[in-house]
Amino acid sequence: MKPFVYTPSPARVVFGTDALTHLERELDLLGARKALVLCTPPQRPKALALADRLGKMCAGIYDQAEMHVPAAIAAAACDQARSVGADIAIALGGGSTIGLAKILARELGLPILAIPTTYAGSEMTPIYATTDGGLKQTGKDVRVLPKTVIYDPALTLSLPAHLSITSGINAIAHAAEGLYAQDANPVMATFAEQGIRALSQALPRIVRNPVAIDARSDALYGAWMCGTVLGSVGMALHHKLCHTLGGSFNLPHAEVHTIVLPHALRYNEEAAPDAMQVVARALGARNAAQGCFDLARDNGAPVSLRDIGMHRADLDKAVAIALEKPYWNPRPIKAAPLRELLEAAFEGIRPR
Ligand code: NAD
Repeated sequence: MKPFVYTPSPARVVFGTDALTHLERELDLLGARKALVLCTPPQRPKALALADRLGKMCAGIYDQAEMHVPAAIAAAACDQARSVGADIAIALGGGSTIGLAKILARELGLPILAIPTTYAGSEMTPIYATTDGGLKQTGKDVRVLPKTVIYDPALTLSLPAHLSITSGINAIAHAAEGLYAQDANPVMATFAEQGIRALSQALPRIVRNPVAIDARSDALYGAWMCGTVLGSVGMALHHKLCHTLGGSFNLPHAEVHTIVLPHALRYNEEAAPDAMQVVARALGARNAAQGCFDLARDNGAPVSLRDIGMHRADLDKAVAIALEKPYWNPRPIKAAPLRELLEAAFEGIRPR
């Protein structure tokens, strides 16, 4: 076994159907008395129900969370937290809402209690981001890691099947890249394999029956595993490319991950054969790249960048941006094969 460094995540995890019934106990354990509940506009009814339930322990709701945490939204949420004297941020939602809570943690030192309602995995990472003038800035800071995460699969029953698939494959991408990370370790490899297996088996069951609580529970468990991998080890080509495509061409986050992943795995196949074997085994497929492609296509997710609004004319620009800042990847990143990767992702071609 190669030498490695492993830092366990300090977050407390409360998992299971109806885990949300333990919210008051968890707030008490954190010594919190005045919670600001964060959500996106469509999730306001759920946040209102939570606020009603908390009574005096709820200091207010901020319901304007948005994808990629626009700086103005973050500033408004900080203002509200300050003005109501909040002592904790409850993030009820997906990566957008949890991302907003992370800015409150960083700017105001508020602890976060996260209640994830998608499979994106942000609740398990010290990675934060804000967007200003179309530029997304990311960073790492352990202060933004939620103190407690309540995973209640019942809250994901309302996540539409198409969002569930892309969100789940977004999580699979964290685990897949974690397997060939520069700082990979055997603990995270175990999390990654379990996470990919749980999600890849759960997603088709969710498509068949979006209210199957067992499938939702398995998917959320997988999301936890995969999110932990993202929070623990470094990412490579796939994540950098998705960051470029999402940020520079305003493409939807989870869909971009879903479309690019098979091609990024194909790109790295020969440089990281052991990782690919684990991904394939966890997917129950003969080949990692094809297995990811089939999981998306067979469950109705988009497989081509063209279909989510990318223009062919932007492919060369995407290559140039992706090459601007060098970063580690198991296979060196070169313009010509990168252009081929993007071409295949643009056309939605199944990797050979
Ligand atoms: P999201 O949080 O933007 O949610 C997508 C949509 O689904 C929203 O309209 C939301 O209201 C709705 N929604 C969420 N849960 C729902 C539910 N249970 N039922 C019905 N509707 C629901 O989507 P996401 O993919 O979870 O997050 C994407 C964002 O998270 C991106 O900005 C991405 O960069 C970030 N992210 C960050 C990290 C990290 O570690 N920092 C990790 C993953 C994603």
